[in-house]
Amino acid sequence: MSPAIRPVLAIHGGAGTVPREAMTAEREDAFHAGLRHALRAGHAVLRDGGTALDAVTAAVMALEDDPLFNAGRGAVFTADGKMEMDAAVMDGRDRRAGAVAGICGPRHPVLAARAVMEQTDHVLLAGPGARRFCRQVGLEHRPTSWFRTEIRWQALQEVLERHRLGLADDGNEARKHGTVGAVACDALGDLAAATSTGGMTAKMPGRVGDSPLPGAGTWADNASCAVSATGHGEFFIRRAVGHEVASRIRWAKQALDEAASAVVMDELAAIGGSGGLVAVDAAGHVSMPFNCPGMYRGFVTADGGLHTAIYREPCRIERD
Ligand code: ASP
Repeated sequence: MSPAIRPVLAIHGGAGTVPREAMTAEREDAFHAGLRHALRAGHAVLRDGGTALDAVTAAVMALEDDPLFNAGRGAVFTADGKMEMDAAVMDGRDRRAGAVAGICGPRHPVLAARAVMEQTDHVLLAGPGARRFCRQVGLEHRPTSWFRTEIRWQALQEVLERHRLGLADDGNEARKHGTVGAVACDALGDLAAATSTGGMTAKMPGRVGDSPLPGAGTWADNASCAVSATGHGEFFIRRAVGHEVASRIRWAKQALDEAASAVVMDELAAIGGSGGLVAVDAAGHVSMPFNCPGMYRGFVTADGGLHTAIYREPCRIERD
């Protein structure tokens, strides 16, 4: 028995934050409200004695429906103007995992990932086979127009124009990427993680990022931690970020925050991998490091306190 075990849920809405100087008070409030809505959805599951797996699924579904975030509705566009979404879930009880890559159609890509985990012998389905599977299992679908947002379309035009002019990256993270994710520890101390993304603006068609790859953008193992990452996916894949945080805990006996911070602030930063992650462990500790200007993020504690933040600032706290 560990009296330290408390249900906890942490989420992110991506490291691709709007630059501070371009952020208006209304927009900022809208991001905080979107994060709180997702925290409430996940917390309702935990409060009713539900599993960490159901809690992270519920939180990610809320963020997928919110066009402010780059996942589901509001996903970014590939270089040829299409949307290709990636998602994953992982259950820390037994390291079961499910993921999809390169799909557009299911309203909730995270449910497609769960269906892969729960209804197939596989871990990751991609492309046309994944899309066919999503129809076969009866997932709710939406037309492309439902996912499309003008702001993401304009971001694509800007990135393509910069490429055409041969301009260097101007550091506008919001134009490039984003992602949503959640990690949770339930009342039994079981862990789970879920991540969902449209990927990176103007990515090559067929490109798959870190989000749907267990061990990179998504990881959950009761013996160590649950991790959901956001940032420049190629770097996160090369550092096996989720697994690396877990390995530091398991083998180097590091505390959650020490391990997560070392991976994000030292390992990733050293190779130019901008981004961050949210992580929890089985004692209910939370870590949310990022090495870029901001990361939409939040956590809810067992008493229902909703903590949200965007830049390097103290969290706004609301209680239901
Ligand atoms: N990690 C995501 C990807 O590379 C993008 C992001 O989190 O911003 O697809």
